[in-house]
Amino acid sequence: MKIENTTPHSAPPPLIQVSGTHREIGYQIGEACAAQVQHSIENAQALLKKAYDKLELTWNGAQIQTRKYMPFAQERYPQYVEELMGIAEGASVAFYDVATINAMEAVTVDALHLTKCTSFAVNESFTADGHVLIGHNEDWVPEDEADVFVIHATPDDEPPFLAMTYGGLLPNIGFNAAGIAQCCDSVYPSDCRIGLPRLIVSRAVLGAQTPAEAIRHMLVPQRAAGYNHLLAHQSGELYNVEVSARSFAILYAEDGYVGHTNHYLDFNMQAIEDEPDELVSSRVRYFRALRLLKNTTKHTIKSFQTIQRDHLNYPDSICSHAIDYPDPLDREKTINALVIDLTAGVMHLAWGNPCQNPYHTYHLDL
Ligand SMILES: [Zn+2]
Repeated sequence: MKIENTTPHSAPPPLIQVSGTHREIGYQIGEACAAQVQHSIENAQALLKKAYDKLELTWNGAQIQTRKYMPFAQERYPQYVEELMGIAEGASVAFYDVATINAMEAVTVDALHLTKCTSFAVNESFTADGHVLIGHNEDWVPEDEADVFVIHATPDDEPPFLAMTYGGLLPNIGFNAAGIAQCCDSVYPSDCRIGLPRLIVSRAVLGAQTPAEAIRHMLVPQRAAGYNHLLAHQSGELYNVEVSARSFAILYAEDGYVGHTNHYLDFNMQAIEDEPDELVSSRVRYFRALRLLKNTTKHTIKSFQTIQRDHLNYPDSICSHAIDYPDPLDREKTINALVIDLTAGVMHLAWGNPCQNPYHTYHLDL
């Protein structure tokens, strides 16, 4: 098979060390990654321009929409609005530019159908060394691949965490010192409304001390829509928490392994799924990931990385290379792949497609 359009990255993604209040943390991120933040705003503006025929949404219109969502964030999670303000100040960009990219999935009512991630995890009964492992392929617009970085944060009022993000987006994929790990997969509920943006809800999960606290954040009232949150605890407890604006399902990994892509697994959630027949490649990736997971009970970092490089159903494979579609809204690829060893407190991350790029190791310091 010919593998095309893969950007090689010779250097690891930048590691940004931040600490203090939420405003200070945001400021430090914005200052260190000003170029990435600015670039991601330009990318979002360009994408809306290209999609104007479909969405009829200008950047100004998107900002006006974002203003309807932010009061919900301000009321429930003012500390993460502070982080957004800090990012904007540090990167010398307007607050509503940063807020708009963080509310983008909401203001476009998912018309972008952008992220098509794959997440999976196993507990101690499925690994060679008894560790808890989590894998996540982040699939997104190719233009944002340049803006990937890793945040090591020590907030004043939350457990330290290590997370991957890109551009001006709040971090939500990672793990914290309380042994909570989260990966998010887009799902497509039909009950979206104006409310709390998903990125802010999922940012809050990284501050949780216990699985129950993490799940309470996922189910916070007045949410605009929802993700699937793959939740892992260092004890080996694994969940998929499927969320929409008004409904949810908590799926527990009875057998010690779990996977998720971009369609609802729960029967009741499927009743409110928007255009389920569009989500064919999501189903193919899901079953493929599950089969590869069940192949062995002796998983290692390496066996997880092998799953992340899988090309079955190429280019809409787990290692996604789907960037040749004529409609720019359909173009996406794996912009990074990460494996979290929750027992060791380590994240291994490949920048770009993991079939062509090496993994780099990041440690959570306590
Ligand atoms: Zn690949």
